Amino acid sequence: MSDDRFDCVIVGAGCAGSVAAYQLASAGMAVLVVERGPFAGAKNMTGGRIYTHSLEKVFPNFRDEAPLQRRITREKISLVAPDSMFTVDFTADGLREGAAESYSVLRGPFDQWLAERAETAGAEFIYGIAVDDLIIRDGKVCGIIADGDEVEARVTILADGANSQLVQKAGLAQGRPQPHQMAVGLKETLELPASVIEDRFSLNPGEGAAWMFAGDCTKGRFGGGFLYTNNDSISFGLVAGIQSAMEGNVPVYQMFEDFKRRLDIAPLIKDATLVEYSGHMVPEGGFAMIPGLYGDGVLVAGDAAMLCMNLGYSVRGMDFAITSGELAAATVAAAVEADDESASRLASYKAQLEDCYVLQDLKRFAKFPHYMESNTRIFNEYPVMVGEMMMNLFAVDGSPERPLKQKMTEPLKRVGLMQLARDAMGGVKAL
Ligand SMILES: Cc1cc2nc3c(=O)[nH]c(=O)nc-3n(C[C@H](O)[C@H](O)[C@H](O)COP(=O)(O)OP(=O)(O)OC[C@H]3O[C@@H](n4cnc5c(N)ncnc54)[C@H](O)[C@@H]3O)c2cc1C
Repeated sequence: MSDDRFDCVIVGAGCAGSVAAYQLASAGMAVLVVERGPFAGAKNMTGGRIYTHSLEKVFPNFRDEAPLQRRITREKISLVAPDSMFTVDFTADGLREGAAESYSVLRGPFDQWLAERAETAGAEFIYGIAVDDLIIRDGKVCGIIADGDEVEARVTILADGANSQLVQKAGLAQGRPQPHQMAVGLKETLELPASVIEDRFSLNPGEGAAWMFAGDCTKGRFGGGFLYTNNDSISFGLVAGIQSAMEGNVPVYQMFEDFKRRLDIAPLIKDATLVEYSGHMVPEGGFAMIPGLYGDGVLVAGDAAMLCMNLGYSVRGMDFAITSGELAAATVAAAVEADDESASRLASYKAQLEDCYVLQDLKRFAKFPHYMESNTRIFNEYPVMVGEMMMNLFAVDGSPERPLKQKMTEPLKRVGLMQLARDAMGGVKAL
């Protein structure tokens, strides 16, 4: 360092912050990470599955080094009606090998591993202190203010997660996110012996399941349930749209309690020991809510930049956070090298995000959040319709059998064929 400034100060030791710190420290930059939690991962939460393509780019040996749980080889999606549950259950050899690799993870050990990697590379970490404000001179972010102390930096990376106050202070966001753009997630980590998990979820040793639920788990409102199998625990929880939950009369914790008591769910978690309970915000608004990603002396990465995507069958945020952290670090390193931390220099960060899957995926599915939020039939009428179809198909009660076509179309007519066609078309357009 040529003066008493850090080359980079990073706010937050989540996936985005620690990966950026690792990359910068590895490039010989002086970097400081300030994390409000007592250790990395203390305040972080995820449903539990990381798609590892981005991790592999930064840590090619992650399979041997990272505290991963189970490789996901079983994908399940359920439509949940009040009195039935219809499940798609998919396994494939392709999920056991190849590029489409994903693992269940627990954020405590995973984030500590990432932070340790950055520390070993030379990054400094301070824990237990929240960054309250930014040092801004002539419109340029020149560092952070934490616990009354000022720390100067050439570039500051805001990686402070979904509820970032600092993005606004940097002048990169117009107001707070709206309730319809945010969801609240809650999760229990439930311990069970590995052999019980493998028996209950039909898994080979070391293999894992990811299970998404839509419908009555959120009382027919915008949101869904999730379940991931870890080595010897299950990550089980709900995500509920904040606007939608506010309009209903059942609090989110009660939705989850009712869900766990269902006859088709209770056996999955029977005799499990609750070892962790957590809650967290999830940015669900997609492309429309991405703030400014760069300014004079500042970049925004991960959830702070709202880089998160929930498509119902997949939830992604950690891979976006890792790639954005990596690209933010590359941008800072080039700016410091060129002795130019201006917004026009840092603009290449956005261009790099546009050139890769991060902004391309978010842009491609830009209409999806609005489609899901405005089409509540997905969460109430359709699970009931499918449940009735299956009931008509499977129930044999001695009365004369009706033609299969009639059995299937009756529930369909209740929703309305035109309505179904319109919703299907809307879904196709949004996806
Ligand atoms: C219920 C739920 C389920 C999810 N499921 C999945 C999933 O299965 N797969 C997936 O890929 N993604 C999932 N996500 C999204 C994923 O967890 C996030 O996208 C990811 O954690 C973003 O990483 P990040 O580093 O940007 O932010 P975070 O992991 O939130 O880290 C931000 C860090 O900043 C710190 N911080 C905040 N403010 C300050 C401050 N002022 N000063 C100092 N430190 C501060 C925090 O303590 C935290 O350590 C889920 C999220 C939730 C809530």
